[in-house]
Amino acid sequence: PDGGNVKVVVRVRKFIKRELERDAPCLIQMNPHTQETTLSPPPIDYTDRNSRKTHEEKSFTFDKSFWSHSEEDPHYSPQSSIYASFGEEFLDHNFDGYHTCIFAYGQTGSGKSYTMMGTPTEPGLIPRTCEGLFQRIEAEEHTNITYNVHVSYFEVYNEHVRDLLTPRTTPPTYLKIRESKQDGIYIQNLTDSPVKSFAEIEKIMKTGDANRTTASTKMNDISSRSHAVFTLTLKQIQHDLSADSTIERLARMRLVDLAGSERANRTEATGQRLREGGNINQSLTTLGRVIAALADPKRQRNQARGAQNERKRRAEVVPYRDSVLTWLLKDSLGGNSKTAMVACISPTDYEETLSTLRYADQAKRIRTRAHVNQDAVS
Ligand code: ADP
Ligand code: MG
Repeated sequence: PDGGNVKVVVRVRKFIKRELERDAPCLIQMNPHTQETTLSPPPIDYTDRNSRKTHEEKSFTFDKSFWSHSEEDPHYSPQSSIYASFGEEFLDHNFDGYHTCIFAYGQTGSGKSYTMMGTPTEPGLIPRTCEGLFQRIEAEEHTNITYNVHVSYFEVYNEHVRDLLTPRTTPPTYLKIRESKQDGIYIQNLTDSPVKSFAEIEKIMKTGDANRTTASTKMNDISSRSHAVFTLTLKQIQHDLSADSTIERLARMRLVDLAGSERANRTEATGQRLREGGNINQSLTTLGRVIAALADPKRQRNQARGAQNERKRRAEVVPYRDSVLTWLLKDSLGGNSKTAMVACISPTDYEETLSTLRYADQAKRIRTRAHVNQDAVS
């Protein structure tokens, strides 16, 4: 297996309208040479006695820092730079037969959906990955490899799984999670559409996204509380005529737009778990606990020893089963996957940004054990 750390990058967006209106200062600096991200204290609020004490300058270093704050800056990172710096690399891994997963984490309004899906004129990681996938397939059309691509798109909302590729129903249809020896953990009856071109996948992507946003205008901001998981499955069938053998490689790429992190923070920080009742995002708080457990150096030492009962120990310590999202993404988090996290931050919010940076800092320590998913068929 290819043991590697979760790749963690951070991206700061430009000011949005309401920040410009209140003339908010930018609290973020990024050093393009060291990749260091520095969060400065907001201007002192003299009406708040704690303001000076609680707000210190904090620095973090990640695999990469993307400065998407000011277009005039020579180091400005447009949408294409995110894909170029690790989206493409992850596609390489998929063609080599590895599963991959990219998460966007951050408070509501920090740029997660912009980074993952983007806009029609500024496409994000998901459409660029789909396009890159088919460009590669088309470039190899005349080789002895057959490619087979499937796409699914689902949402986890309030611990329920909903298919984003089927029309909404009233009452809503929730899908069940199943587990089998052969398929591992999977969602029963989830649409998994075969696709033959980028144009086809683009249509499906838009349907799914429309299903997500339509709901959010009707129902109290679902998109900030839901996790959207876009999955591409690439199967490569390689015929070796001279040896008369067939090899199959299977790679799954997951692209995840997480719920707004402010909910997890608020409930964790104030311990208002019970009072907030239905507002707790179980999947997001569990994700935090899973990351903390996986990043724990003690657990990692045990894993390195490779003890026979390692699996048992992992199961005990890492609370994957405590939420739908972590259960479904178990492999992407601490298992057979090459995984990256994009921490999205607002340039003006000290508290939320600090907690996002701390979260990301912890995720850096997680190691996964990806292996090539290959079978000799004949
Ligand atoms: P989230 O999904 O985290 O709630 P969004 O992606 O919806 O946040 O971003 C909030 C707003 O900021 C949107 O209007 C989006 O278009 C804009 N935005 C986010 N990131 C950028 C960026 N890097 N450049 C330009 N606009 C951005
Ligand atoms: Mg969003």
